Amino acid sequence: MDEPSAGPDAAESAVDAWIRAHRALLVRTLGDLVEVPTPSPPGRNTGPAQALVRARLERLGCAVDQWDVYPGDPDVVGVRRGLRSGEARSLLLHGHIDVAEVGDPSPWSRPPFRLTVEGDRAYGRGTADMKGGLAAGLVALEAVEACGARLLGDVVFESVVGEEQGEAGTADACARGYRADLAVAMDTSGLAVQGQGGVVTGWIVVESPETFHDGLRGRMIHAGGGLHGAGAIEKMCRLIAALGDLERHWAVVLQYPGFPPGSTTINPAVIEGGRHPAFVADRCALWITVHFYPDRRWEEVAQEVEAFVRAAAAADPWLALHPPAFRWGGKSMLVDRGEVFPPVPLDPAHPGVAALLRAHGEIAGAPAAVGMSRSVSDGGWLAAAGMATAIYGPGRLEQAHAVDEWVDLREVETAARVLARLMLRWCGT
Ligand SMILES: [Zn+2]
Repeated sequence: MDEPSAGPDAAESAVDAWIRAHRALLVRTLGDLVEVPTPSPPGRNTGPAQALVRARLERLGCAVDQWDVYPGDPDVVGVRRGLRSGEARSLLLHGHIDVAEVGDPSPWSRPPFRLTVEGDRAYGRGTADMKGGLAAGLVALEAVEACGARLLGDVVFESVVGEEQGEAGTADACARGYRADLAVAMDTSGLAVQGQGGVVTGWIVVESPETFHDGLRGRMIHAGGGLHGAGAIEKMCRLIAALGDLERHWAVVLQYPGFPPGSTTINPAVIEGGRHPAFVADRCALWITVHFYPDRRWEEVAQEVEAFVRAAAAADPWLALHPPAFRWGGKSMLVDRGEVFPPVPLDPAHPGVAALLRAHGEIAGAPAAVGMSRSVSDGGWLAAAGMATAIYGPGRLEQAHAVDEWVDLREVETAARVLARLMLRWCGT
């Protein structure tokens, strides 16, 4: 491949024209995906949608691997072997098939699981996050195939499960060995080329070995009461204050390009504690969400939070004797109430990311915005597996998980055209 090319060659132009001539196929592909509901929670419902993706990949000449990550939730990976498979550069296109839950559909003014097209907008659950991205990737692959372009490198197409609940769909595909020289997570980025920070959730538990009647509270808190007990909820409040101190300290001292200061938040998101008004609370559990910059690993971040909270606990006479317990991360918000999203340290100078930026600039007629997502995606697992990774997909973050979710079909089409051009350039022909 010649690096800074003058413009599209004949094959690139033909593929591009094919995609522009097949808007109806793009819309139908998106509609097919939206109309097989895959909300999570509850999850365990992606089989029929994954069967669609699988059939499509097989028709496009991919060798397809499918396995159950959870019962009823299979991952599907298609590999389209290049003429110089293993030598030429490979590309991994990644998407998740699960979508955010809908719950009560009555606030929706259009049916969530039917594609409603009004002008350039396509409405339906998952249009923005991220069946639009999957449709773009599938149509890009189809265009390359239909135009008879012979790629040198492999294309790996992953349709995974479990992203919405921090589950193991992508981690599993990585563990199964799928790698490429460049990975694109086609998730909601509004066609910006993005990295992301990381997220880890954790549980902090304060527990008293003894359970006291509410009537004993006076003896626990007043002069001369003589009973060294404590309410777990009140002690947790001390620890929440400590978390706030650490959050503010991080906001002051940490920074990373692309993030507004203070993006390293510690959110006390869920609290559970106490049993009944006739008891002193003997247990309190706090679920926190910790955001960190791409230059750190979740394990170190968790360790730092834990050390800080332990020090605060050591300064309290009761907590010093009954220190809090910690549990970090997890493999599913549904199964073990915990999750990790590793960061994506975007490198715009990486030749693959540069090729993506160039392809976008040529097709959109303006440079892509480059930056850090305010959210997290499974792109983190691709990066954690050692792949150069960029997040790039149609749809705006405000639309993800929203009532009346929509995507701009022009964005989906641009994504398909850019991904097709990237495929031709990066994998070579
Ligand atoms: Zn997503």
